[in-house]
Amino acid sequence: MHSFFRRLILTLAGNRLVTRFVSRYGMRLGARRFVAGEDWEQAVVQVKALNDSRMSTTLDYLGESVTDTGQARAARDTYLALLENIDASGVRASVSLKLTQMGLDISRELCLENVGAIVRKAADLGNFVRIDMEGSAYTQATIDIYRELRRDFDNVGLVIQAYLYRSEEDVRSLAALRPDLRLCKGAYLEPADVAFPRKVDVDENFKNLIALNLGQGGRTAVATHDEKIISWTEAYIRENRVPKELYEFQMLYGIRPALQRRLADAGHPVRIYVPFGTEWYPYFTRRLAERPANVLFFLGNLLRR
Ligand SMILES: Cc1cc2nc3c(=O)[nH]c(=O)nc-3n(C[C@H](O)[C@H](O)[C@H](O)COP(=O)(O)OP(=O)(O)OC[C@H]3O[C@@H](n4cnc5c(N)ncnc54)[C@H](O)[C@@H]3O)c2cc1C
Repeated sequence: MHSFFRRLILTLAGNRLVTRFVSRYGMRLGARRFVAGEDWEQAVVQVKALNDSRMSTTLDYLGESVTDTGQARAARDTYLALLENIDASGVRASVSLKLTQMGLDISRELCLENVGAIVRKAADLGNFVRIDMEGSAYTQATIDIYRELRRDFDNVGLVIQAYLYRSEEDVRSLAALRPDLRLCKGAYLEPADVAFPRKVDVDENFKNLIALNLGQGGRTAVATHDEKIISWTEAYIRENRVPKELYEFQMLYGIRPALQRRLADAGHPVRIYVPFGTEWYPYFTRRLAERPANVLFFLGNLLRR
């Protein structure tokens, strides 16, 4: 049922009329719950509030599937300015970005040049860049670019999705690099020949990947709001005496804030993913697709107007 719903929402989200309507009214009708603002000035207010509650953040300047070289370079420049702003303001924030925002659909060289400039700038400022993972068509290219960046830099991390069959092998093959990995379930529409269709299998694989990467000595960010996986991780960390430098919990801005606070209050390192910018539509529709109640909330706001 859940996967049918997800498929339906993500398919509808691709419709041109739906895109136009939601892009126009979505921020007022509910997207604000998941998106921290349309610019740095709005986002930094939320970052400071999270920092005050003992949580770090990772800022995502929203954007993906860029097909224009100028636009990809502009996104790079926004990230360079963002790193400067983070440094000048003193907030606890790293950055997360998507390779298709950096021009991966245009050329691998352009993408590598853009993301390389961002990672270099982050290194100069003592900051860190996380490369988000997109749909399975990009998995190999993303891992390849990550490997290439790791030749020169340590301040870059990758995301691995538990729903993909290939992920266990990917984590094993990266062992020598001691990768800093964010592990998550995976948010895209994937066919059954590349991804586990059943939630139980995804959850089982998630736990295996956490143990695998921690066992390999790789820093591991457990990115989920799933209390069962979080409790399992807490027990694993306790039993295996995993030091705080080697793990953190990550959650999305606006989702399960009480759980975020509980983990931070319990003394765990917690980082909140804070997206901002005007290109929030695809991010927002993925959040709607994850949970039927979110669509009802959105439609409820629409009807009340
Ligand atoms: C920090 C972070 C970074 C991420 N980066 C990536 C990435 O790079 N690539 C990628 O493919 N995916 C990414 N994701 C998304 C991830 O793959 C999942 O789609 C998403 O986290 C929902 O799954 P879940 O693990 O929370 O578990 P679920 O089993 O889906 O949810 C567990 C519980 O969390 C709550 N919840 C989950 N989603 C929502 C929601 N949208 N609205 C309200 N409540 C919700 C509900 O209470 C639900 O019962 C990221 C997630 C996080 C937290």
